[in-house]
Amino acid sequence: MLWNFKSRDSKREATEGDNELSMIPVWSIVLAVLVFASVQYLFHGVLPHHRHEMLPMRLLMGYSWGTAFASYVLLVGYVSRDVKRRKMSASLWMLIVIVMPGGIGAIVYFLLRQPILSRCPHCSTEVASSYHFCPQCQFQMAPVCGRCFRGTLITDVYCTQCGHDLAEDQAPARLRAYSD
Ligand SMILES: [Zn+2]
Ligand SMILES: [Zn+2]
Repeated sequence: MLWNFKSRDSKREATEGDNELSMIPVWSIVLAVLVFASVQYLFHGVLPHHRHEMLPMRLLMGYSWGTAFASYVLLVGYVSRDVKRRKMSASLWMLIVIVMPGGIGAIVYFLLRQPILSRCPHCSTEVASSYHFCPQCQFQMAPVCGRCFRGTLITDVYCTQCGHDLAEDQAPARLRAYSD
């Protein structure tokens, strides 16, 4: 019974993995709330109050700085999970994203990150999601035109690039599953 629940949970996690928002771990959400709260405390409790400074201004500054820092914490949390999904070095990238100032590390990360890897259902070679065929066993991962070999949509009847009649290709049945 317990085992059953567990396997169902892990299955749900696997499908939710596609949702980008679920890529943000709980610890970074909690930390983001804490950071936001402590920035409010810093602005309203610790920093010296000047008499000429108006309260709306102080609220606005506290809110915007708090949001900026909290978003950054969420971003770091996202990277910490995304980096594993892409089989990149987690510790190296976490260091880069945290150490480089003003979010530059995060920008570098999003420019350089590797495509998400999955496994070929036929031979379990690691393949990038952009591949149309498995590099090791020629297993067809995505629908392609049989004449020009560009990617096509499962619902296309003719190739959008060369006009080829896709029905002639006799694509594997599992790729045609949703076309009718
Ligand atoms: Zn394969
Ligand atoms: Zn074509």
